[in-house]
Amino acid sequence: MIESEAGRGVMINALSVDVEDYFQVSAFAAHIPRSKWDSLPCRIEQNVERVLALLADKNVHATFFTLGWVAERYPTLIRRIAQAGHELASHGFAHHRATEQVRGAFLADICLAKAVLEDVSGQEVVGYRAPSFSLGPENPWAVDCIAEAGYRYSSSIYPIRHDHYGAPGAPRFAHQPTPGVLELPVATVRLFESNLPAGGGGYFRLLPYAVSRWSIRRINRIDGQPALFYFHPWEIDPEQPRVEGAGAKTRFRHYVNLRRMQAKLRRLLDDFRWDRVDRVFLQRGG
Ligand SMILES: [Zn+2]
Repeated sequence: MIESEAGRGVMINALSVDVEDYFQVSAFAAHIPRSKWDSLPCRIEQNVERVLALLADKNVHATFFTLGWVAERYPTLIRRIAQAGHELASHGFAHHRATEQVRGAFLADICLAKAVLEDVSGQEVVGYRAPSFSLGPENPWAVDCIAEAGYRYSSSIYPIRHDHYGAPGAPRFAHQPTPGVLELPVATVRLFESNLPAGGGGYFRLLPYAVSRWSIRRINRIDGQPALFYFHPWEIDPEQPRVEGAGAKTRFRHYVNLRRMQAKLRRLLDDFRWDRVDRVFLQRGG
């Protein structure tokens, strides 16, 4: 905990970045088919460079859950992430939600992403995050695929109620859904008998920073657990091209407070200690 900085009570939280471009987010999928991805102005390189600069400035290492699609097109960027001491992990190949795939296609996608990321980086990839936190009661076979593909952990569940994702009944903290794989859910705070989001997403941009700080402190002190936080490179890019045709709610969620994000992240990195997901969770004996 923060007040005993020098003591053994210092809690180290896990920081993660989902490496995908602004046009690859699931909420826009109905408006931007995958066949168009190659023709859109790509902002991933410049935005990941900004994330790398921010983390270097704060002397923080993080885990980058990266699409195989991105790794195939930007191998130099992937090597920059790995060489800076960050953990490279998988976000699948083409950002298909597990809920829209059958078992065989899901397994092929996560195997391909792992192979591409390992090929490009020369490092073993042990972590996986499903697009849009799409693991839940409807696809119990998915964790077996994750084990079969050779991953050691998954961070694919956000135990909240949300219209696009979320498994509100899932455990809030690290657990083993199948032998050999640890599931590491994104941070939530338990309040009024429900789980409230505390680990990133549009909520972090929408709510005052003090709410996020209070929530993470509470997870560290009351639950005695590290918090797992995530954000996207496009969230610190207010100049990104606007996607036409999406509904008002989708646009609001995607574009709200992009200009304030970088400053908020700086405060978050200052107020807590952070490290890569593998170092926070796999070395705790879990
Ligand atoms: Zn994603």
